[in-house]
Amino acid sequence: MRVILTEAEISEGITRLARQVASDYDGRPLTVLGVLTGSLIFLSDLIRRLDLPLKVGLVQASSYRGQTKSPGSLAIADVSGLNVCGRHVLLLDDIFDTGQTLSGIVAELHRLEPASLRSAVLLWKEGRQRVALTPDYHCFRIPDVFVVGYGLDFNDEYRHLPHVAALEDHDH
Ligand code: 5GP
Ligand code: MG
Repeated sequence: MRVILTEAEISEGITRLARQVASDYDGRPLTVLGVLTGSLIFLSDLIRRLDLPLKVGLVQASSYRGQTKSPGSLAIADVSGLNVCGRHVLLLDDIFDTGQTLSGIVAELHRLEPASLRSAVLLWKEGRQRVALTPDYHCFRIPDVFVVGYGLDFNDEYRHLPHVAALEDHDH
């Protein structure tokens, strides 16, 4: 595997993002929603750097496709149990690739009438976007390669790696 982002680089990127978010929300109460499963580590590192009145929730979504490049069919679990009506919401995902996942979840969440809704991703892949929406915040742009680690998986492996690495053909 080829390391693309080291643990230290990721940590700096998340600290930068936390400063930006804290300054933009300026003490207003926020609900941070993480998209399962890939955003778990990103979520836990970001929220511990946010000095704001904070609620945390999770959204289950999957677009299974293994390592292939075409988007799979998107399945989003019922979000109606999330108490986000009238709240400022920041939706977190691990990676923005085609954008299908984020765009689908954002549409679902809008129906719950949050006071505001923004999105943040750890990684934003170059040249793959297929939707009109772009993330409001991102930590890093990366080239169009399949990456694992820091929450991102291949067949549910590698999520625990502290860095982000490109998965190469001989790795699996
Ligand atoms: P999108 O819907 O933006 O095309 O894809 C977003 C989802 O696809 C992510 O939440 C992630 O689960 C998966 N994905 C896209 N690119 C990669 C990648 O390079 N590595 C991994 N592990 N997952 C990816
Ligand atoms: Mg995911």
